[in-house]
Amino acid sequence: MHDKFIPAGGTKVTSTAAFDTIASASVPQSQGVSEVVPAGKWKVRFGVENDPNRQARPQGDGARSSRAVTARSTAAPSNVTIHVPPGLKVDGTTVDSTKAATNPGIKERLDTFFKVTSQLLGIERGTVTFRAAKSSLVDLDDNEIIDGFAVSTGETDGTQNLHILYTNSIRQGGQPIAIGISPGIPGAASLFGRGVSGIIVVPGSTGDDDVLTMVHEMGHFIGLNHTTSSTARARTR
Ligand SMILES: [Zn+2]
Repeated sequence: MHDKFIPAGGTKVTSTAAFDTIASASVPQSQGVSEVVPAGKWKVRFGVENDPNRQARPQGDGARSSRAVTARSTAAPSNVTIHVPPGLKVDGTTVDSTKAATNPGIKERLDTFFKVTSQLLGIERGTVTFRAAKSSLVDLDDNEIIDGFAVSTGETDGTQNLHILYTNSIRQGGQPIAIGISPGIPGAASLFGRGVSGIIVVPGSTGDDDVLTMVHEMGHFIGLNHTTSSTARARTR
């Protein structure tokens, strides 16, 4: 299905780690592989992208048990947790992070988000949970972006839940780089508190635009590349 990070029938590298010492993969990723992956034992080899002959040492619970993995189907997440740091601004006003559930701007975005996922993807609204995030996550610069992806620390691994951190800015070297970002293509949908465990969205001027960002980054998170490139993981304004 994969050879040196390239899906069968494909031309671009996928399933690599950019933000943490952990990567995730989804199969199939191309029409070169049957849509139905037969259940059974499959082998995973961990390597270094720029040096295909060098093998990375798997670490951590998932990796230790994943040299032989059992294929199984996973549904896209319909449960969503929104993480709101103190000082977050939505529609120009500061949100009370402890009362995000009743914030009209956030409610409108979630209602539209699930309307879109239902109509376009058949993903119906699941449970929506709100969590107050730590204050350092209200603006993300450089390595703080990894903290943002890991905002789900403490959640139980193995459950399915899309964690979305709302923040005021995503920066590198102080310069804004994106209005939305996914840690990988795909991210890790059921392993929490790591630098691949959620997506980050910067609320902007309109709810509809933010929903587009949420759906776009969710697409990356569940394994979709752009149709015109394979590397960009961030949406810019
Ligand atoms: Zn993108």
